[in-house]
Amino acid sequence: MLNEIQQLLSVQRADQALHEASSHVDRLRAHRQQTEGRIEQERAHVSSLADRFRQLEVESHAKNLEVDDLDMNIRNYQKRLDEGIISFKEMEDLRTKIEMEKGRINRLEDEALERMDSLEGARSALAVARSELGGKEDALRAQIQDVDRQIEAAVAQVAAITTERAGLVAAAPPYLFAQYEALRTKFPNPIAVLDRGTCGGCKLRVSGNTAERVRGGMGIVTCEHCSRVLYLSSD
Ligand SMILES: [Zn+2]
Repeated sequence: MLNEIQQLLSVQRADQALHEASSHVDRLRAHRQQTEGRIEQERAHVSSLADRFRQLEVESHAKNLEVDDLDMNIRNYQKRLDEGIISFKEMEDLRTKIEMEKGRINRLEDEALERMDSLEGARSALAVARSELGGKEDALRAQIQDVDRQIEAAVAQVAAITTERAGLVAAAPPYLFAQYEALRTKFPNPIAVLDRGTCGGCKLRVSGNTAERVRGGMGIVTCEHCSRVLYLSSD
């Protein structure tokens, strides 16, 4: 194989390695961002439980006040009834009111108990979530640190390949490298193997003349279909 083609192939290998290394960095950064997002989700979960607890606390308190108020009303009616300085009609009215309010207070008390049950449930859910949050955050932060180390290594690899590529480019003939760069705007593999008369890039059969020139090592030979620079793998 021509020395120039070998040089271009080395640049192409460096470019492919660079592409893989850069994609790896991108994936790691996306993973890091996702993990940061999970920390935010864990915190948001605890804060929504805290909101729910506070809301239930307010509702429960209001319901208990309602029960107390009604209880006070009933006591007042009962007192007026017991004092008895009212007409028979008023006494009948008071008795009816007391019966009605007693029915209401039973329902309210049931509701107040339900609210208190919900409140206790929310309190323990919040306590559990709060106690678990630290551990979850620590685990996720440890993951992020691990990803940061991987990112650092991958970035160093990108830098190393970039340096290596610059050396390869400096060694290659400028006109040939320019041709390579022009082809690379269209293909990730501007240098393609000729395999049994077929271009390894576009997979089309080249003319017998072209194949002969590649086999004979007659300078830089390009595929007449896609313009990729061709080489023989057996060289
Ligand atoms: Zn081709």
